Amino acid sequence: MSLRFKALEQLSSTPTIDVVNSPKITAIFGTNVFTQKVAREFLSDEAYKSLVSSIKSGQKIDRAIANQISSGIRAWAETKGVTHFTHWFQPLTGTTAEKHDSFFTIKSDGTPIEQFEGDALIQQEPDASSFPSGGLRATFEARGYTAWDPSSPAFIMEIGNGKTLCIPTIFVSYTGESLDYKAPLLKALEALNKSAVDVCNYFDKNVSRVTPTLGWEQEYFVVDEALFNARPDLVMTGRTVFGHNSAKNQQLEDHYFGSIPERVYAYIRDFETECYKLGIPLRTRHNEVAPAQFECAPIFEEVSVAVDHNSLLMDIMDRVARRHKLRVLLHEKPFAGINGSGKHNNWSMATDTGVNLLAPGKTPKTNLMFLTFFVNTIKAVHDYADILRAAIASAPNDHRLGANEAPPAIISVFIGQYLSKVLSDVKERVSSKFDEQDESMLKIDIHKSIPELLMDNTDRNRTSPFAFTGNKFEFRAVGSSANCANPMTVLNTIMAETLKQFKEDVDTLIDKGEKKEIAIMHVIREYIVASEKVLFEGDGYSDAWEKEASKRGLANVKTTPQALDAMVTDKAKMLFESNDIYTHAELEARHEIELEKYIKKVQIESRIMGELATSHILPPAIRYQNLLSNNIRGLKEAGLDESAYSNQKQILDKISEHINKASDLVEKMIEARKACNALTNTRAKAIGYQEQVKDEFFDQIRYHADKLEILVDDKEWYLPKYRELLFLR
Ligand code: ADP
Ligand code: MG
Repeated sequence: MSLRFKALEQLSSTPTIDVVNSPKITAIFGTNVFTQKVAREFLSDEAYKSLVSSIKSGQKIDRAIANQISSGIRAWAETKGVTHFTHWFQPLTGTTAEKHDSFFTIKSDGTPIEQFEGDALIQQEPDASSFPSGGLRATFEARGYTAWDPSSPAFIMEIGNGKTLCIPTIFVSYTGESLDYKAPLLKALEALNKSAVDVCNYFDKNVSRVTPTLGWEQEYFVVDEALFNARPDLVMTGRTVFGHNSAKNQQLEDHYFGSIPERVYAYIRDFETECYKLGIPLRTRHNEVAPAQFECAPIFEEVSVAVDHNSLLMDIMDRVARRHKLRVLLHEKPFAGINGSGKHNNWSMATDTGVNLLAPGKTPKTNLMFLTFFVNTIKAVHDYADILRAAIASAPNDHRLGANEAPPAIISVFIGQYLSKVLSDVKERVSSKFDEQDESMLKIDIHKSIPELLMDNTDRNRTSPFAFTGNKFEFRAVGSSANCANPMTVLNTIMAETLKQFKEDVDTLIDKGEKKEIAIMHVIREYIVASEKVLFEGDGYSDAWEKEASKRGLANVKTTPQALDAMVTDKAKMLFESNDIYTHAELEARHEIELEKYIKKVQIESRIMGELATSHILPPAIRYQNLLSNNIRGLKEAGLDESAYSNQKQILDKISEHINKASDLVEKMIEARKACNALTNTRAKAIGYQEQVKDEFFDQIRYHADKLEILVDDKEWYLPKYRELLFLR
């Protein structure tokens, strides 16, 4: 019996694991986190104060204090039964990394003790040589180290009965180049803080810190584990490279917001519980558009914590799924023909005075502040659309962007009718000539309340890659498997740069003797005019928009290797270097890493495609071909005339054609791969893989394989079919 049928048989006997939830979320929320409240309890006054000021303002912690903090953390962890600790970090592989050490050690006199010293808290040296570095380590220094990031709290990860203390860290080379997602992110957040505080101070001198906020929405698929295991393509790549559409998929629109199937519901409640203990504030869960697709979303948090929480979530979702004999698919496009998965990044900025800078205010003065940040965001996206596009580029996301189910590869901004009107009013009422300004223009009222604006904007336009949704922007083009750090690094950097320029422009006018508010309005007007071509309110999925965007001169880069070019332009190098995010060498290294990731992913897909075609698709097809030809021969021999077997013959012809074509194409694809492998330039190789391997062969081979799937006797077919993967659990 093939794995497929074993899996199908097993399905009905797989019990739903019942999960008993805590009666109240607050009773377990954050119980595995070394929160400031816990710190208060386990640390001396001195150590506590030092930790808090390090969290608040990045102040350095000295060694002696670090020793006190590490002992406090260990004391707390031991009350929870923890024996090991690890530095937890986010290397450029896209997953999280950990290497466990025990508290247990033996003193020089032979006494065994448990200890966790300050040094071990602050710094570790994982063997860095197996993480991607884009050539950085070769150029600079072979070793890398992880360094404690006090801005993200330590936590305890429970795996079965094992409990490990995790210290969030950044990962850098000995010469200081960042080797992970987190280090540049922290720099970008600091750059944004600085520029945004300067601009806030035009309106409110009390603002001394601006913290960007992020609320992600994670989409995912859930499939049965046994069926998953019978699909080598899912196991190897996270997506199905073959599979005919099932008769029913999402056309009845009956899955979205429908009731969650029981087995999945138990799984969701289980991973939610794990998340709550880790302080991940999950709030929303629902079915998504495609069958077997779901979404979860937390309450928004500071960007750095939100990024850690999303990485943790993806890890937890995967582990808990196995407990339920399920598999979670975080891939952007696990199934052809139905929606893929994204990870909307809802983003805003909050001041330490408690103001959301993207929420319209109640007074003309706070409105002006809102308008400033709102228009600066539009300008930033306009000016650096190419870099933003590069930040979301990946092999799996290419399947989703522009496929009429996700925002197109064209970066545009949706702001809604009401704010479009506000911007055009500003354009009209503020004269472009500086000496004609008068104060009446300051009375732009944005009286709409936030609930009204939310009604105006939320859900109105799901086709925009970057939409204003009432009190935040929603970056929707991010892929479901992505680490949010990358898009967040770029978004906060381009915003920092734009605000810095804004302040310069306003100050220039003020220096010329203009009144502050008028100077601000003037620059806002200028920015609206300079960036309005990026604004688009219509249907982003339509062909008309592609044409219109090209007329407007907006880029539409559909593939990753090309999109990544924007990372290493002079413009990008200037941007990232002047804001202290990346040196040129770091940018080039990252560019190289992204290209290599692309190449490897397409290469793996191509290999599994070839392998499955020859070992899983062709054998049953050939057996069925034999059956048919024997049948025809038999009928012929029995003296029946052609009309008796003409249908069999028709099917046989079709099958034979698909077998031959598929097998031919696989051979040719292997040749194409060889040609690409011979290329030494990484970019050329990536483009080769995209154009000559993926674009040239994937869809064609799949076409023939999928045709065979519906022609061949079902009981002969090895690979679980879409209807089974998507509907059975
Ligand atoms: P939808 O699915 O309609 O886009 P959701 O309610 O599922 O909306 O998600 C909205 C997300 O936006 C939530 O994660 C929420 O916490 C987040 N969010 C709300 N306000 C802000 C803000 N000021 N900054 C960042 N994220 C925010
Ligand atoms: Mg959303």
